[in-house]
Amino acid sequence: MEKILDIKDLHVSFVTYGGEVQAVRGVNLELYKGETLAIVGESGCGKSVTANSIMKLIPSPPGKIKKGSIHFKGQDITKLSNKKVRKIRGVDISMIFQDPMTALNPTLTIGNQLTEGLKQHRNISSKQANDQAIEMLNLVGIPNPDERMKQYPHQFSGGMRQRIVIAMALICEPELLIADEPTTALDVTIQAQILQLFQKIQRETGVSIILITHDLGVVAKIANRIAVMYAGKVIETGTRQEIFYRPNHPYTQGLLNSVPRLDQKGEKLVPIVGTPPDLFSPPEGCPFTARCPKAMEVCSRVYPFQTELSDTHAVDCWLQDERAKKYIAST
Ligand code: SF4
Ligand code: MG
Repeated sequence: MEKILDIKDLHVSFVTYGGEVQAVRGVNLELYKGETLAIVGESGCGKSVTANSIMKLIPSPPGKIKKGSIHFKGQDITKLSNKKVRKIRGVDISMIFQDPMTALNPTLTIGNQLTEGLKQHRNISSKQANDQAIEMLNLVGIPNPDERMKQYPHQFSGGMRQRIVIAMALICEPELLIADEPTTALDVTIQAQILQLFQKIQRETGVSIILITHDLGVVAKIANRIAVMYAGKVIETGTRQEIFYRPNHPYTQGLLNSVPRLDQKGEKLVPIVGTPPDLFSPPEGCPFTARCPKAMEVCSRVYPFQTELSDTHAVDCWLQDERAKKYIAST
């Protein structure tokens, strides 16, 4: 499979009055053509910061990519000028956020907003842009697109607005679509419809998708692979099956036990007790130590090596590592 995105050892910090928040601390992630990768974790775990780094949308100051690389189709985005990144943004890589209203301009018609990006980036006539916009509205399931093109955002429901935002993100045929909590602001039935829409779009366009969410239920339906983040690190990655049926990291296990699952009716939900560590001064060892029911002495002192459980499944936890014994014995 063709790799279209390769993130290596990414470190992102924010400098505040209180000190430096180390939001992302050595993230490695890969994305292959045509797949959906979900990045999952509690708020503040660094998933949005990782996504924003791909679009070079880290406000600087206070933010800074301190280390690492983000290769997209062979070029390192972290090294590109802002001018070059603007050419990629919205054209090769598009992003969708939680609240569709912030992405739409209330004073412009949907038609204007859809064709704006096209006219800017592609050398096409108004008629062609219009036809393409109507085609996009069809793809995302907006009825009577000809008529709807003339309307303003407030004339659409929340779910319809998110469909329009998705159409806007796709109109320049990007290779990568990043969706940050795209269904969180919507009610449950609409959420399901939007997730189905992502699947349909992927089938029809072959776009690769990064889906960011705190909600494992969302992921269960559409992700091919899942990366679980905790305290600025990816602590486990695997296929959807591996993460759901053979979760290995105690945090992933905790996450799964804390959400309702269709395949385990009647099981008790167990919240993960405690809070994530302060990222002003992150712990040297495993950041989950304070909340981990299986923590050992070594865990608080040394960050675990990554263990590969299969070609697709990797975990950062001492429980899986023979070397833990050596560390315990030697100290
Ligand atoms: Fe728990 Fe230790 Fe594994 Fe961290 S490394 S998840 S503290 S067992
Ligand atoms: Mg977020």
